[in-house]
Amino acid sequence: MAVMDGSVTISQGAYITIIASCYRFANPGIFKNDWAEVQGALYGRNEGGLVHVQDAIPLAHLSHIAVQMQDADYVALSAIEERMASKGMFQVGWYHSHPDIKLMLSLEDVRTQAGLQKPNPLAIALVFNHVLLMDRNDDPGLKAFRLDDPSTIEIKYHEVPFEVAGADGRFFAEARALLANVQRSFSGASAVNGILGRVEKAIKDITTEAAGLKEHLATLSRQGDPAAVAEARAKHLQRIEAEFEKKERSLRVQLDLLDHLELVERQSFSGRIEDVKGKWAEFERSFRGNMK
Ligand SMILES: [Zn+2]
Repeated sequence: MAVMDGSVTISQGAYITIIASCYRFANPGIFKNDWAEVQGALYGRNEGGLVHVQDAIPLAHLSHIAVQMQDADYVALSAIEERMASKGMFQVGWYHSHPDIKLMLSLEDVRTQAGLQKPNPLAIALVFNHVLLMDRNDDPGLKAFRLDDPSTIEIKYHEVPFEVAGADGRFFAEARALLANVQRSFSGASAVNGILGRVEKAIKDITTEAAGLKEHLATLSRQGDPAAVAEARAKHLQRIEAEFEKKERSLRVQLDLLDHLELVERQSFSGRIEDVKGKWAEFERSFRGNMK
């Protein structure tokens, strides 16, 4: 298929971050009145007339229509810009969500887009409505727009063709499955503390249980019945191991969701996330070592 001039390719990773960050604040687990719009920045490259969106950075969510940036966001954003520039990427556009709202640009959106499109005529605005993705198998829930003329404030814009690179029906099915995990474990502003707390609790619970088993086996051993010790050991170890594996799967999925944090969260939680991830990796290693 010939790619039209000015069209847009979105990497699968950027698409996943866009939909996860938006769904986090508007999903069936949240009262519709409390749904918040999410806004983020898109990074990548222009190549000829084409735009490659390679990365998406969620910026902020707000429950009223205009999504606005705070001062702290701009400070954090300049650090991101530097990191992106070192990888040869710059801001190629922005995205925001219209939860269960038509995919279009409001007057406010047109102003934001004009600010980006004046210096970069290929800049794009992506708008996402999760309801379209969740309801229809073949709909990514996104539209891409450009203003007809960024130098006027008239609301005149057009749709731009785009594709999510290499995405097929299976990719979108997996994307919907990921959003189910977002609703379960990553919903709302308290989600980060929730995930980190669950990892810490899992480490504590399994450690406590393993210590209890050790004590129980020591008692049996003192009673001088080696067969009973071996039997109890085999039985309980199997149970603890099964529990560990179940938690490991679930926590792995939850920790991966932390890749889609908003800008200021990335800064304020980065130390604690590294710390908890390190503790979990260490715990996994030592648990597997002990099970051998
Ligand atoms: Zn809008």
